[in-house]
Amino acid sequence: MPELKREVKSVEVNYLCDACGKGMMARAGEMDRQTGEIEHRCLICDHQQTFLWSEYPRIDYVGLDEKI
Ligand SMILES: [Zn+2]
Repeated sequence: MPELKREVKSVEVNYLCDACGKGMMARAGEMDRQTGEIEHRCLICDHQQTFLWSEYPRIDYVGLDEKI
C-alpha cells in the first residue's frame, strides 16, 4: 500500500459545563483503564462530571474540507 497524505487542520475541543454553562471542563484525574472513565471538573463552579473515553480540552485533527 502506498503512503497517503492529506493536509489537516487542528481544532480545540472543549466541553462547556452542564451546571453553570460558563466554565470549561478540565480533566481532574487519570483515566480508569478498566471503565474508560475520566473525571473532569468545571474550572469555574467546580461541578464534577465523568466522561467515557474522552478528555477535555483536547486537540482533534480534521481534513480541510471536513466540517468541524
Ligand atoms: Zn460550571
